Amino acid sequence: MTDKCMMVFDSCKSIKGYNRGIIIDFHRFKYFYVPNTLIDFLNENDRMNLIQIKKNYIENKEIIEEYLDFSESNEIITFTDYSLTNNFPKMKEEFYYPGSISNIILDFNLLMYDFGNFLVEAVNFGARFLQIRFFNKVSCDFLNDILSRVCDKGLYSIELIINYDDLFENKNLNLITKFNLIQNIFCYNSPKNGLEEIYSKQIIHSKQSKINLHQCGYVSKNSFSFTTDHFFESKKYNSCLNKKISVDEFGVIKKCPSSIEVLGYVNNFDLNIITNLNEFSKYDLINKEKIEVCKDCEHRHICTDCRINVSDPKNIFSKPKFCTYNPYISKWDGEEGYKTLAECGVISNENGFSIDHDKIAEINKVLWGE
Ligand code: SF4
Repeated sequence: MTDKCMMVFDSCKSIKGYNRGIIIDFHRFKYFYVPNTLIDFLNENDRMNLIQIKKNYIENKEIIEEYLDFSESNEIITFTDYSLTNNFPKMKEEFYYPGSISNIILDFNLLMYDFGNFLVEAVNFGARFLQIRFFNKVSCDFLNDILSRVCDKGLYSIELIINYDDLFENKNLNLITKFNLIQNIFCYNSPKNGLEEIYSKQIIHSKQSKINLHQCGYVSKNSFSFTTDHFFESKKYNSCLNKKISVDEFGVIKKCPSSIEVLGYVNNFDLNIITNLNEFSKYDLINKEKIEVCKDCEHRHICTDCRINVSDPKNIFSKPKFCTYNPYISKWDGEEGYKTLAECGVISNENGFSIDHDKIAEINKVLWGE
């Protein structure tokens, strides 16, 4: 064992936060909260000789043994001959999308609008991923009609957001098999919370009785994304709005349906003009490293950002409004010991953004010990 080298699996990516770090295993859709020092240790010693590692850390022998045991038992690292590590080339940590649009959202309430030409054009501009949101109950025919009209347009996948009754009670489940492009379905008004798989599609159940436009941007553990594309995109670009376009319930083209800025109308539009508007791309480069509070959060590259509902509408770099996580003490609102950002001395106002590190250290000492 000891003449081997330690190798971190490349499917495991880490993010350091203010108070702790996270290691995400993108193959197994798992994540582990860990001390930032464990992340430093893995980064500094990836593919290094194990004897040498142990020599270098002789004064911290116990903690290093603990780190190695934890990482090996959770399949974050393995021990192997150095010569074999060449068989495991590292992923290129970059994001490239060959089109000016990647994602579309279509919203429907009570009205149907003619989205056919828009969809065809958006696909010509690179769009491959479609989310369709139904705010109200829809009939089987309405649903079937919309899905029939989107499925032959060259998309790769469709996500539905729909009332539970419309899918399960009204016997529309056969639509899931009929339309192969449907990959995920979020069912609100469900009798339960949780995940299930039906016909290889992921169904996310939520007891939340309704959804509406203004609920965009809610952040919770359930909304984290575990794809490397999201992870790498988020490092450079805005993880919600980059290359996104949407049509609201009245057929108005916007960046995000919750935005008040109008980019055009679905019955009269020119995507050449729209994609060159400042309003189309002004959020693209606002990544999580630039956003107050999020830049200190260990979830920042698995979390989806929202720039429309922000905690301070006058500050485009302020935290998403509907996030209740405090990364300075690693607590969600409702968890024992939770304190607001202000109670921790994290302040954002016209004078700028400031953190009272001493106050946070005191709070963390009480919450988490030394
Ligand atoms: S603080 Fe920011 S990065 Fe962290 S969970 Fe909330 S919105 Fe996501």
